[in-house]
Amino acid sequence: MSHTVTDELVAANKRYAETFTHSGLPARPAREVAIVACMDARLDLMPALGLAIGECHTMRNAGGVVTDDVIRSLSISQRELGTKAVVLIHHTGCGLLGITEEWRQELELEVGQKPMWPVESFKDLDQDVRQSMARVRTSPFLPHTDDVRGFVFDVTTGLLREIDPAGTPAS
Ligand code: ZN
Repeated sequence: MSHTVTDELVAANKRYAETFTHSGLPARPAREVAIVACMDARLDLMPALGLAIGECHTMRNAGGVVTDDVIRSLSISQRELGTKAVVLIHHTGCGLLGITEEWRQELELEVGQKPMWPVESFKDLDQDVRQSMARVRTSPFLPHTDDVRGFVFDVTTGLLREIDPAGTPAS
């Protein structure tokens, strides 16, 4: 059988477990914060935000988009596990910036089935962060929507830039 990347990960896990010291951590995030971010491989959330294991929830998907499933996770995070603040992170150079809704049609033509989900691509990063903030703030399922902030992470500098929720789309 050929050696795969997953085999390498499993081997790394054995080494990790040898010195594992976090067995006593509670499930409730110590800093009561949930982070919604893009899945991008260059975004290393924990060190980028000074977070340690046990301190936050992280929800990641393509784009860091606030989908129904993210609202589902945030609902459980806030209602069952005590988080209160929400931090949304998009980033420069996101793969979704180059995709259009045509991608969905092309996919349908190729496989003969229309996907159930929207692509949620965007052209204006800042505006998409604003929309994500609005989706969280207006969700009827979330008890804590006062502390919702959105940022764009610059993959060339490692710095976050905060997005003004009241800003207007660049046209
Ligand atoms: Zn991305």
